[in-house]
Amino acid sequence: MNMKVFTHYMPVKVFFGKGELGKVGNLTRELGSKALLVTGKKSMKKLGVTDKVIELLRESSVDVTLFNKVSPNPTDKIVEEGAEVAKREKSDVIIGLGGGSSLDVAKGISIVATHRGKLWDYIGEDKVKEEIIPIIAIPTTAGTGSETTPYSVFTKKEILKKDALVSFYTFPKISIVDPVLMKSMPPELTADTGFDALAHAVEAYLSPLANSLSDALSFEAVRLIWGSLVKAVKNGNDIEVRGKMALASSIAGMAIAQAAVVAGHAFGMSIGGVLDTSHGRTVGILLPHIMTHNLPEIPHKIAQLTGALNLSTAGDSIKDAQKVIKSIKEMMEEIDFPTRLGALGVNEQNLPKILEDSITQPDIENNPRKFDRKSAQEFLESIM
Ligand code: NDP
Ligand code: MN
Repeated sequence: MNMKVFTHYMPVKVFFGKGELGKVGNLTRELGSKALLVTGKKSMKKLGVTDKVIELLRESSVDVTLFNKVSPNPTDKIVEEGAEVAKREKSDVIIGLGGGSSLDVAKGISIVATHRGKLWDYIGEDKVKEEIIPIIAIPTTAGTGSETTPYSVFTKKEILKKDALVSFYTFPKISIVDPVLMKSMPPELTADTGFDALAHAVEAYLSPLANSLSDALSFEAVRLIWGSLVKAVKNGNDIEVRGKMALASSIAGMAIAQAAVVAGHAFGMSIGGVLDTSHGRTVGILLPHIMTHNLPEIPHKIAQLTGALNLSTAGDSIKDAQKVIKSIKEMMEEIDFPTRLGALGVNEQNLPKILEDSITQPDIENNPRKFDRKSAQEFLESIM
């Protein structure tokens, strides 16, 4: 047993299950009466979800203003625009409805609407010093876990940089995790976001900050994803399977909220900043490579995942760890998931900037097997 001393803080009230979206009106009314509903540009409107949420809010006497301008890899500019609307409307609750991008923008808006300065002033760890507007998170992808994390991730276009904002104030007060909302994800989005959740579960498990409780969360998330991701990609209408992925994503979020992530996310964020790639696809491609890189340092930890993958063990941690990594690669192959960075457009021209940004990311320092500039460059070059 891992007897490390640790604290565990998870202040989010999570409502999980099929049909739980129906509670959004009453739950919002507990926190405020003037909601800003933050969503993406198309999918939720097209599916009728935006209108349904607005109707449920109005039935509970909540005023709603819609801010439906979020794009993937959201920028500081869009957060600042949304914060102006929140201030003008005197919003007292911010609802993020959509993928991680909409949830993160809801978090950013809540900060900028209550604090001086610009969003970028708050990038990094614990720069937010006071309470912000309460947040409700309603994920429609099963990937980021933003509904259970104190993280939000933004892009600054002028410098082609993606960075994380870490603040326990940005834990949502309430999250409604309803797998029905995820049925409309097309196969590629299901795969990309599912690999984000898997990367969170595994990276938190490998993290030096992991503890017994985060390990339990990681392990269960890996187990759920192992049994359902391929099925969700192949048949998105299976609500059982969508439910398992939704749960796994929120649980993996709880694991990274405690144990953080490692180098896969450091490289992944830099690539996303430079090339505006799908976050899940990026960290998914990196996942088996990062596990292989870390194998010499923590073979026993990777080997323990044989249990979550229901694999037999050879009683030899190196062989078992190799088996775990091989199985993850086989899963990628089964759903035609890309395996090399070239598939994202990484090339010799953009590699120097990606490398520069990666080696200054805090997540890279948290990697069990240390990277310096040279080994990071060799690593990236070897998986192009
Ligand atoms: P996005 O939120 O970026 O959404 C990607 C696309 O999926 C959008 O075009 C969106 O459409 C569409 N979409 C969303 N839900 C559905 C659905 N149910 N059916 C059909 N289409 C849908 O994707 P992710 O969820 O992967 O979020 C990625 C972002 O989250 C990245 O910026 C990443 O860095 C961040 N992240 C945040 C973390 C955190 O802890 N806060 C952790 C990990 C990643 P539309 O725009 O029209 O709504
Ligand atoms: Mn991620």
